[in-house]
Amino acid sequence: MWLITAGPTREYLDDVRFLSNASSGRMAYCLAEAARDRGQKVVLLSGPVSISPPQDVERISVVSAGEMLDQGTRLLKERQADVLLGVAAVCDFRPKKRLLGKPPKERGGFSLDFVENPDVLSSLVALGLSRLNLGFALEDFEGTGGPSFERAVQRARIKLHRKGLDGIILNPIPQMEAEAGTAYWVTEQGEPRFLGAGQKRELAEWIVDAVLALGSG
Ligand code: C5P
Repeated sequence: MWLITAGPTREYLDDVRFLSNASSGRMAYCLAEAARDRGQKVVLLSGPVSISPPQDVERISVVSAGEMLDQGTRLLKERQADVLLGVAAVCDFRPKKRLLGKPPKERGGFSLDFVENPDVLSSLVALGLSRLNLGFALEDFEGTGGPSFERAVQRARIKLHRKGLDGIILNPIPQMEAEAGTAYWVTEQGEPRFLGAGQKRELAEWIVDAVLALGSG
């Protein structure tokens, strides 16, 4: 089974307002489809998105980072995973306290305290119930080979270590909301591998093939 985290998370400030981000969930959903096409059983653990899951892909919907971690833990304990792929754009922070109801705007400006959210992917990896563990790193860089690319690869490797991953897919930042993008495959050692530039559906196929090659290698 492939467990893929997807979409943004939402962290509610009160019963109506929330903190989130612009992730559409497209990349994760394309990956789910591509893995399904290669005969894998896929579960999407997804934050709120406006797209439907691909046919024959099970979706478990969650809202907050905490829920994503709880449901991911439950799933891994029940079923384990051949591949755990963290694609979700999890909110790094949540309000320390959730206010009740909808405090009226007439009450004027106010400050909020935030606390750090758990790192869903590294917490799930730490359970030791998934065989191959992979993540995404969205970094600020232009082109291949220049100093900004070298720094992005370095940062991706630090994430790979910190989260206990076997591989990490490096993307440039503008990709989050775009339909197309570029992907590099970064592992602990060796040169980063350019997987290609194209539509997210194409990128997903190249990524899934790289994952399957790693698993059988
Ligand atoms: O540390 P950074 O957010 O750049 O790492 C990105 C990777 O970690 C992605 O694979 C993302 O899905 C995962 N992540 C997570 N929980 C967080 C932050 C990131 O699962 N709180």
